[in-house]
Amino acid sequence: MKYHPDIELLLKYSSGQLAPAISVAIGLHQEHCKECQQRIIDLESVGGDTLEALSISDSPSDLDNGFDLLMADLEATPQDNFQDKYDGYAVAQSDVDYLERLGKKDYWSFDWKRVTRKISRAVVDIDDGLHQVELLKFEPNAKIPKHTHEGEEFTLVLEGDFSDSNGCYREGEFIVQDQSDEHQPVAGSAGCVCLAITNAPLKFTGTLGPIINWFSRH
Ligand SMILES: [Zn+2]
Repeated sequence: MKYHPDIELLLKYSSGQLAPAISVAIGLHQEHCKECQQRIIDLESVGGDTLEALSISDSPSDLDNGFDLLMADLEATPQDNFQDKYDGYAVAQSDVDYLERLGKKDYWSFDWKRVTRKISRAVVDIDDGLHQVELLKFEPNAKIPKHTHEGEEFTLVLEGDFSDSNGCYREGEFIVQDQSDEHQPVAGSAGCVCLAITNAPLKFTGTLGPIINWFSRH
């Protein structure tokens, strides 16, 4: 596997600080990816050590007392406050349901709409206030019109594969693209199903661009 979330995304994922839409995509990626599973485990333990170190360095500069100060600090933090602090980042139950449905490849239960003869889409209703989330299905060898990205686009390949001039993206891979990438992907011979997360609409740039842009807004 070649395309993974970067270390910053994994760190935010492991500490529950990611927008739910991206969190669901990384949750699905790590089900396919032993490397990222291990990185997340490592980051979770590093995260704990880092918090302890910060807690000590914020204290008066008596290092011998660091451990005692840390323990006092922890004891002074009621457990329920601790819980409150993290509830703000909790992924909603509906998002956990999406994670399970998509993990089981149960995407045919979504409400699909045809975009072209070879491309269909279904909205995934993860409302994190930042992202638009959709499933895209490409028939074998479908060409996705040339487009750029006004914001960031995160793509998780759920089934099959697609490629563009930068490479081939296979099942489970997590791809990040931004304004600087103009690309014209082509689905593989078995077609492709992707989870696509955008924070701004795609802008199609080819000959058919204006028409597709119009359709994608309606
Ligand atoms: Zn990975």
